[in-house]
Amino acid sequence: MAYIDVIDEYKRYNMGDTVIAANDGITFGVEKGEVAVILGPSGAGKSTVLNILGGMDSCDEGQVIIDGIDIANFDAKKLTTYRRNDVGFVFQFYNLVPNLTAKENVELASQIVSDALNADEVLNSVGLGNRMNNFPAQLSGGEQQRVTIARALAKQPKLLLCDEPTGALDYETGKQILKILEDTARKTGTTVIIITHNSQIAPMADRVIRINDAKVRSVEINENPTPVS
Ligand code: ADP
Ligand code: ADP
Repeated sequence: MAYIDVIDEYKRYNMGDTVIAANDGITFGVEKGEVAVILGPSGAGKSTVLNILGGMDSCDEGQVIIDGIDIANFDAKKLTTYRRNDVGFVFQFYNLVPNLTAKENVELASQIVSDALNADEVLNSVGLGNRMNNFPAQLSGGEQQRVTIARALAKQPKLLLCDEPTGALDYETGKQILKILEDTARKTGTTVIIITHNSQIAPMADRVIRINDAKVRSVEINENPTPVS
């Protein structure tokens, strides 16, 4: 068994008379501390997988085992606790609170978990020690994304789930963000899962899970992932 095991997971949406299978028997595993990339075109079912892994949605069938616990059978209350305590989220468009500074955004983590990391230290670790008192609008896209990562890491999550984290950034800035995600996995043992349609991100990953048309088409393990440079 792996640290994360998604086993024969199904998610369907009813659209009037038709049923859309967003996930049609998805199976894959991810080991602790890995960087895993879930790669596939738009509409493949990636976000559905991420939402289920993050406890934002539940599946219709299958098992979703995180660190030995099957969250597929969790009720809404248990899912909320899981989502708040165990999962950090990084989105394409940052999702920072605009009227709070970088530091205050990261400090929000301490309202969610009792053992949140010190905001100054986490912001330092993502290279933003000198911009802590800036508001999001005063920061570049890449800097805002670093604040988002810091806020997620302050919770010391088991899983860091990233939805197109470089999608709104230019190539060089995107690389800096990927470098931080890579460092996070390597140095803290946090399991990082990135969903993307951008195959250029695959070489850095320990594991590449290709999804297309609601199914896993291949899983590739990189024994020697290419460090982000
Ligand atoms: P991806 O993230 O790879 O773009 P999604 O997981 O968002 O793919 O979507 C997979 C499929 O499920 C698509 O056909 C999409 O239209 C459908 N879908 C996703 N969410 C919903 C929803 N809430 N209601 C109906 N259909 C949905
Ligand atoms: P385009 O001009 O089509 O946007 P780019 O080559 O500029 O293509 O980059 C595409 C995406 O790849 C960007 O969002 C960038 O963030 C991302 N990217 C960043 N770093 C890497 C990397 N090390 N390997 C692959 N892709 C990366």
